[in-house]
Amino acid sequence: MDLHSHHPYWLMKSGIVKPYVSLQENTQVDVAIIGGGISGALIAYYLANEDTSSCVIDRRHIGMGSTAASTALLQYEIDTPIRKLKEYVGLYNAIKSYELCRKAIYNIQTICGKLKKSASFSLRPSLHYASFKSHFKGLYEEYSLRKTYGFDVKWMQPDELQDKFGFTAPGAIFSGDGAEVDAYLLTHHLLSHYQAKGHAVYDNTDVLNIVHNKRGVELETADGYKVNAKKLVIACGYESLRYIPRKVAELHSTYALVTEPLRQHKLWYKNSLVWETADLYLYFRAVDGNRILIGGKDDKFYNPDVRDARIKQKSKALIDTFQKKMSGIPVKADFSWAGTFAVTKDGLPYIGSIPEMPHTYFALGFGGNGITFSVIAAEMIKDLVRTGKTPNKDLFSFNR
Ligand SMILES: Cc1cc2nc3c(=O)[nH]c(=O)nc-3n(C[C@H](O)[C@H](O)[C@H](O)COP(=O)(O)OP(=O)(O)OC[C@H]3O[C@@H](n4cnc5c(N)ncnc54)[C@H](O)[C@@H]3O)c2cc1C
Repeated sequence: MDLHSHHPYWLMKSGIVKPYVSLQENTQVDVAIIGGGISGALIAYYLANEDTSSCVIDRRHIGMGSTAASTALLQYEIDTPIRKLKEYVGLYNAIKSYELCRKAIYNIQTICGKLKKSASFSLRPSLHYASFKSHFKGLYEEYSLRKTYGFDVKWMQPDELQDKFGFTAPGAIFSGDGAEVDAYLLTHHLLSHYQAKGHAVYDNTDVLNIVHNKRGVELETADGYKVNAKKLVIACGYESLRYIPRKVAELHSTYALVTEPLRQHKLWYKNSLVWETADLYLYFRAVDGNRILIGGKDDKFYNPDVRDARIKQKSKALIDTFQKKMSGIPVKADFSWAGTFAVTKDGLPYIGSIPEMPHTYFALGFGGNGITFSVIAAEMIKDLVRTGKTPNKDLFSFNR
């Protein structure tokens, strides 16, 4: 499957960060990770110092799956608000999920701080505004829940929004915890660290077949080589769905653009991540080089051709909607692209095993918060590889 259109900004900006080679011999490791996107790279990073041998295998170039297309807002607020999530998983688990996502943001900060090269990580507050008066009540209820359970949130009234952000809305939640990153660069930097610890990364290596046996798994690549491993981690992004014999997610198309560099340097309050409650939503954030990233206008995924044929129209719609809100910041699209992403029924990821695939762990960070979910998955999979156990296993299990 084509996971995104041809010109995501991050790819154009950073290009080939680092060359890797394909697998050209049979090999044996304790843990094989299929997928060299942000999920596989984070898992590799967490396993790098463990007393286990491992390798990362990707059919594309590294980071060229969904990761290259990601707009990489790091938020603890998942697609499903707590007030709705509690109906699926109960209040305790809903709060717990939000807390784990919040912790994941700071874990990425720590990781980025330890890496030798910058992946443009910055902490940023986030603003979630009510698009319509009819959304006020639900958003205020969400604010109250989060405040009660100790999240750093503030309610913003229309006047304050106008003053700080240059637009008005019926009300908004201003959250202190959030961040942004270049997920494509971060993937390469994580895997550089992993290689420096003596582990192998193979790109251009398509795993065509997975055979389960008593000792673990045997992977067969398109070039005819075999990888034997005691444990397998599937971090294949949306392409992981082919390994799961039941429907766990729906595919959507999503659109994004990065503007030309702006003349003005002052944008809006703290360059916060901004998003709205409307269904056909808009989000935006600042990007290095005095540009703005604008995204949203998702629709149902049919096929990559239909998705990509809509880029021009969606890009115009994103600019028009942004301009209606932020008339004081004239913008012009410079790079526009489309990507595919998967949505689960409750907005939570799937992390763990299924009975049909022994010795195998899945790291499926689906939804708009895929990257924060990938951090949670990496921590959990490290525990599972070590001991077979991890806290919060049930929260993200396939049986929930
Ligand atoms: C436009 C867009 C905007 C987004 N915005 C955000 C955001 O703001 N915040 C956020 O947190 N998330 C966001 N996401 C989601 C986020 O980008 C994804 O959750 C994340 O990139 C998924 O990473 P991954 O490593 O799991 O998958 P991928 O990056 O797709 O990596 C999986 C890899 O597995 C490889 N693979 C698959 N099958 C095989 C095989 N058989 N053999 C070998 N290799 C294989 C693929 O080649 C691929 O490189 C966005 C996504 C899109 C498309």
